[in-house]
Amino acid sequence: MIFVLLETANQRLTEPSLETLTAARDLALKLGDATEALLIGSGVRALAPTLKGLQSVSVVEDTRLTGYVPEAFAKIAAEAIQKKRPNTVLAPGTEVGNDWLARVAVRLDLGLAAGCTGFSVENGALKSVTRTNWGGSLLEEIEILSNPKLLTLQPHAVSAQPLTGGEPTVETVTVTLDERDFRVRMKELVRKEKKGLSLTEAKVVVGGGRGLGNAEAFKLLEELAGLLNNAAVGATRVATSNNWRPHSDQIGQTGTQIAPDLYIAVGISGAIQHMVGCKNSKKILAVNKDSEAPIFQRADYGVIGDLHQILPALIAEIKKLKGA
Ligand SMILES: Cc1cc2nc3c(=O)[nH]c(=O)nc-3n(C[C@H](O)[C@H](O)[C@H](O)COP(=O)(O)OP(=O)(O)OC[C@H]3O[C@@H](n4cnc5c(N)ncnc54)[C@H](O)[C@@H]3O)c2cc1C
Repeated sequence: MIFVLLETANQRLTEPSLETLTAARDLALKLGDATEALLIGSGVRALAPTLKGLQSVSVVEDTRLTGYVPEAFAKIAAEAIQKKRPNTVLAPGTEVGNDWLARVAVRLDLGLAAGCTGFSVENGALKSVTRTNWGGSLLEEIEILSNPKLLTLQPHAVSAQPLTGGEPTVETVTVTLDERDFRVRMKELVRKEKKGLSLTEAKVVVGGGRGLGNAEAFKLLEELAGLLNNAAVGATRVATSNNWRPHSDQIGQTGTQIAPDLYIAVGISGAIQHMVGCKNSKKILAVNKDSEAPIFQRADYGVIGDLHQILPALIAEIKKLKGA
């Protein structure tokens, strides 16, 4: 059985949780296995019957378990794993999911592979997992010998599919928690105020790099994004280090990982540390004056030329089409 540890926010499943359920069900299909899940929180029980296609969902409801409570979550998951005896445990490869499963691994003395992007099945069993390392330049294949195998799924490694099938059995689980389980608590989550769409939500991302030359030139990117539906502006590390854009706009290994329908990369060379953050874009359109720029090896569409000529022309053409 594959056991999925789910993350919620405001009594809803997070996108990485939905991706993890999709990956788990896909893997279960290949293994001829069942999929079950664990839901922890306050007011999350109503979510359980919506997890269609799963055999069973274990729910731990407690008003003290609002948000992520590391030690309590690890204790609950470890007890559930010991009781359920799954062969694989899968959690979202987010900061919470990785922290949660690492704690479980220590409690149960099991092997953990974080940030998996693929699963290899041989003779009806999970043989190995793939994950990226060294900023995406190295693909690592790992065999975990412990049973169960603890895995987290790299966000955006798969796209979340709607849950279909029969309703799961819902089991209410009680775990005795004491003061020690609440030694570490998240007191407050402060979200940075950001105007417009976030980079991870946007369907189109317009990214700018050193080729822009200064902060002022990003107005062109803002204008282009404003003309497209659901678009946001991002940047390379050079642009954020030069204070042309805030750090929150950075795409890449040390920035945000994006997966839009279209990534328009303007004045960006295509360094590996940047590409790691945008490689899950469905299509990449690159604008660069250097025909030898590495980004063209990854791009689906390329325009070779000076962005200061190409962008105004593109903006004018879109405005014409929109009758603006
Ligand atoms: C540990 C580590 C982590 C890193 N993490 C990140 C990260 O998260 N994100 C990230 O982006 N980088 C990251 N970097 C930096 C990365 O290695 C590159 O230095 C960076 O991505 C390059 O940014 P760039 O493409 O804007 O600049 P450059 O590589 O200098 O490329 C500029 C491009 O603009 C083109 N150009 C110039 N003028 C024009 C014009 N007028 N019209 C059209 N094209 C033009 C040039 O031909 C060139 O291809 C990291 C580096 C390290 C070592």
